[in-house]
Amino acid sequence: MGIPLASEARLESVNGRTPTIATLCSHSSLQIFHGARIEGFPTLGICVGSPPKFYDAFPLARPDQFLSVPTVKDLPKVTDKLREDGAIIVPHGSFVEYLGPEAFATMDVPVFGNRAVLGWESDRRKERDWLESAGVTMPKLFEDPKQIDGPVIVKYYGAKGGKGFFLAKNREALEGFHPTGPHVIQEYVLGTRYYMHFFYSPITDGGYRLREGSLELLGMDRRDEANIDELYKLGAQEELMKAGLRPTFVVTGNVPVILRESLLPRAFEVAARIVERSIDLFGGMVGPFCIEGIMTEDLEFKVFEISTRIVAGTNLFISGSPYSDLIEPGLSTGRRIAREIKRGRAEGRLAEVLS
Ligand code: AMP
Repeated sequence: MGIPLASEARLESVNGRTPTIATLCSHSSLQIFHGARIEGFPTLGICVGSPPKFYDAFPLARPDQFLSVPTVKDLPKVTDKLREDGAIIVPHGSFVEYLGPEAFATMDVPVFGNRAVLGWESDRRKERDWLESAGVTMPKLFEDPKQIDGPVIVKYYGAKGGKGFFLAKNREALEGFHPTGPHVIQEYVLGTRYYMHFFYSPITDGGYRLREGSLELLGMDRRDEANIDELYKLGAQEELMKAGLRPTFVVTGNVPVILRESLLPRAFEVAARIVERSIDLFGGMVGPFCIEGIMTEDLEFKVFEISTRIVAGTNLFISGSPYSDLIEPGLSTGRRIAREIKRGRAEGRLAEVLS
């Protein structure tokens, strides 16, 4: 038996009934509702104001009912209603961002996955402690600009979509740079980016086994980022910067990618280490997560970020991916979440996958 994440009291509203899968109508909600519906769960979409009209265009993913709130911040006021409906909230990136970490952590409705992960993900220093203590390679940090020995990226804390990130090709190029707020100076890793969608189940026995439970790879994408991805068309970046044009990293879409097969063992090893360490640190990162990193020309994988819940890149694979099809044809991350809840119920182990 694994680690219980949820108390008996927290699970009271979903005991002995078919739970309703609920999430905020945004980000990857269509996929979450679609997957829940296939697995036989009723669904509830939390929306700000009127139900979004574009949902009518996707009948297989439209939730059975909507719950409207004036703003996302009002969500804690409707938790009684959510509990009445036996809701299990599936958090996604926008959900946590719009609601705020504090309100999310204390929300009195069962949530899929381990909420304790938030404290480790939202603080860049704690995230680094977690990943580095797991033996994962991350881009170097330069506390002292004098130590810079190659290209760097300056990241301001809380810079949305990398707006305000600053690139410098070497130490000299950073001379005269005056930071305008709290920031880190990080090695700019040259290579190719991969965003790997994993799923950790503490209650599954087969497949790629970990100390407890098992690990699945459900898909992989690369983010389209404006304007950096196409900036080269205007000429050398240095010249552009002189002309006052700054690179930004605003995610505008996603493209599917696959990794050279010979690199898959390394990808699994990195993911396994991160999960195993999460079990020691805070009881485990349960469910979907995404490892975001850069493969260098020496085939070294450097992780610059981890997302600890379903990422929007999984929306590429609503009807399966080149990886998930080898587990079960048509398995999306949304459906995999619903499957985990189903198994948890059937085996009396919901407390291990909800918090
Ligand atoms: P982040 O806000 O840390 O997720 O970074 C946003 C984007 O900046 C990423 O998707 C990458 O394209 C790029 N990026 C972040 N860190 C690095 C790095 N250390 N080296 C190269 N590119 C990076």
